[in-house]
Amino acid sequence: MATMTGEGFLIRNARLVTPRGVEEGDCLVREGRIAALGRFDPPRGVPALDAEGRYLAPAFLDLHVHGGGGADFSDGDPDGARAVVEFHRRHGTGSLLAAIVPAPPDRMRKAMAAALNVPGVVGIHLEGPFLNPARCGALDPAWFLPPSRAAFRELASGFEGEVKVVTLAPELPGALELVAEVRRIGAVPALGHSSAGYGEAVEGFRQGVGHVVHLGNAMTGLGHRDPGAVGAALLSPASLELVLDGVHVHPAFARLVIEFLRGRGELRRLCLVSDATAAGMPEGTYGLGGREVRLRGEEARLPDGTLAGSCLTLDRAVGNALRFAGLSLPQAVALASANPARVLGLEGVGTLAVGAKAPFVLLGPDLQVEALLPGGGSPLDHPAHPGKIGP
Ligand SMILES: [Zn+2]
Repeated sequence: MATMTGEGFLIRNARLVTPRGVEEGDCLVREGRIAALGRFDPPRGVPALDAEGRYLAPAFLDLHVHGGGGADFSDGDPDGARAVVEFHRRHGTGSLLAAIVPAPPDRMRKAMAAALNVPGVVGIHLEGPFLNPARCGALDPAWFLPPSRAAFRELASGFEGEVKVVTLAPELPGALELVAEVRRIGAVPALGHSSAGYGEAVEGFRQGVGHVVHLGNAMTGLGHRDPGAVGAALLSPASLELVLDGVHVHPAFARLVIEFLRGRGELRRLCLVSDATAAGMPEGTYGLGGREVRLRGEEARLPDGTLAGSCLTLDRAVGNALRFAGLSLPQAVALASANPARVLGLEGVGTLAVGAKAPFVLLGPDLQVEALLPGGGSPLDHPAHPGKIGP
């Protein structure tokens, strides 16, 4: 596998999931970027992999990951942080934001430091602590703080440039000043765990809130006399997260959102996220930021029944986007790659085009993840894998 991590490699006979559609062809990667794509004369002496008709797509980028594979970023354990990233890599996620839940500030800072040491973690999503206790969901309101620029500066000190998304409740006193401070350090203020009504949410977007965390969850819903934060979010220019596991939002709600955005030519605003906590674990009882989470089937809940993150991974979320809303494969893949990359202002990431950056994901006919390229520890290392590697 060392050959695939080196200076360059060639993937032959792939179905290339490009922004224009699915095309058959090859992909040459040099120095971590696509050097040629489609039909071209392959250079000699470059290690090659025969994809045998598998899909080649940009690797997924998840803006909202708490944990997976039995570990949780918020614990601040370096080995645990590595385990989370490794777990999501197996499901096609090449880069992610480590989502840190409200806790004592020194614990949150320790968790940020541990996560940022792991390759693949491209930043921090602070899911709090400036949230509305009335919409705490599974987060522990004991550690929520009233919005305060000083408290935020202290929390983020030394992590400026690494903190990418800050979830806050824009209706709280002082929140709009906090929005300005979050933007000042280059992060995206996001609406979430908020009781904001329609008008308060509209004002938040006007003042610079640029993103919405798990649309529909832990916020005011869409009513015909009170369009709530969901209505304001849809009509705003903000990017929107959707936890598309069929549990967090009804598949018909997902369809409404997707068809609305598609009709406006704004699908690029939508980002699939996992909000994963207990992903990849057998049924049982686990911890999330010190709280007890029970995993039954596909649902992670607190003992009182409140949803506590998900068991979702982005490979399944992409499949659900195809099923629930009839998107094409390139459209569904963009929701988990190009769109979140745009939220982070990353250029040439999350797309299949000449000049675009690795990593990439190889998907089987049912969209099962077969490899993340380049990289060690991918399923391509497995001797049973039918892919052929060699010059
Ligand atoms: Zn979350």
